[in-house]
Amino acid sequence: MATYQFIIDKIRDIYDEPEKFIPLHAPLFVGNEKKYLNECIDSTYVSSVGRFVNLFEEKISEFTGSKRAVVCVNGTNALYLALNLVGVKQYDEVITQPLTFIATANAISYCGALPIFLDVDRNTMGLSPESLKSFLATSSEMKDGECYNLVTGKRIKACVPMHTFGHPCRIDEIVAICEKYKIELIEDAAESIGSYYKGKHTGTFGKIGVLSFNGNKTITTGGGGMLLFNDEKMASRAKHLSTQAKIAHPWEFVHDEVGYNYRMPNINAALGVAQLESLSFFLEKKRLLAEEYSFFFKDKNVDFFHEPENSISNYWLNVILLESKTERDIFLAESNNQKVMTRPVWRLMNKLTMFEKCQCSDLSNAEWLEKRVVNIPSSVKI
Ligand SMILES: *Cc1c(COP(=O)(O)O)cnc(C)c1O
Repeated sequence: MATYQFIIDKIRDIYDEPEKFIPLHAPLFVGNEKKYLNECIDSTYVSSVGRFVNLFEEKISEFTGSKRAVVCVNGTNALYLALNLVGVKQYDEVITQPLTFIATANAISYCGALPIFLDVDRNTMGLSPESLKSFLATSSEMKDGECYNLVTGKRIKACVPMHTFGHPCRIDEIVAICEKYKIELIEDAAESIGSYYKGKHTGTFGKIGVLSFNGNKTITTGGGGMLLFNDEKMASRAKHLSTQAKIAHPWEFVHDEVGYNYRMPNINAALGVAQLESLSFFLEKKRLLAEEYSFFFKDKNVDFFHEPENSISNYWLNVILLESKTERDIFLAESNNQKVMTRPVWRLMNKLTMFEKCQCSDLSNAEWLEKRVVNIPSSVKI
């Protein structure tokens, strides 16, 4: 008999789906998506100029409480642009967590910079302020108002914590540490739209926050990303850089630096505006689903991951913690074999060949989580 059959049965029961494939997170289009897409096509403005692009930025800025929002073609490029904007250069170093999706580390690499991997907290799965504080206290020195790594001699320019699966990390403490060491803070909030720490939306604590609207995220534009700013000037520069650094002029083509073609097309933004109208409804439903899971697992000897203290989580992907890697692997095989999609957390970044030589702190919490975390189906159900 399958050991974790009771979980698989419960998931099938929740989704009222006795036999077909149950995905981890499927998008839901139940609002004005088709209407806005049609409007977009009828207008002929399907590319990066069009009313939905600007509207999507305004609506996101309003929803998150950031002063400005600037769209991007996807979250990975938005992260790269953010690092570029705060001045991360070749041979710099950027602190992040090893427990993250590859995009965080890749964006650092695009700058020619090297990641430093510091441990996470077990109860947030995000960068640990203690780990950050102790690393900087023992391994860095300040020179001319900048932070340098005592071991490598390189400049530590930025820090990119991530709000894992929508659960906010202790971002206010990270803000304070980064301020002390003059390190630029960029929040990878790709997974945490609709998540709040002490009442403030994730992605609005750092100099820049980044959201993703990939197909598997809480709301989607097909592919897409957004940069969140409190600094108007930097936001304007982000828009300039993401539109080939073209100087505005009715007919002349003049560019004043090397820019990028990163602006989200109107087609994607049309989808985004419609999805955003459904976001509150999605968040409510996701919270109810998390409550149902939490209640179910209470007396089952399975640890369901709850939103951390001081936080409201969007519960993007629900998490259970199994007792060991062996147990985890049994459950992953059983569920996926029965077409109920579950998955382990990402292989830690420091174990991937591209990053295996990078500097790390003690990573015992990340290692502990890596062996135990399993994501279970989390789509909004109606
Ligand atoms: C989804 C995601 C991104 C960005 O991904 P894109 O697919 O490029 O939009 C970045 N970081 C994390 C942690 C993510 O989950």
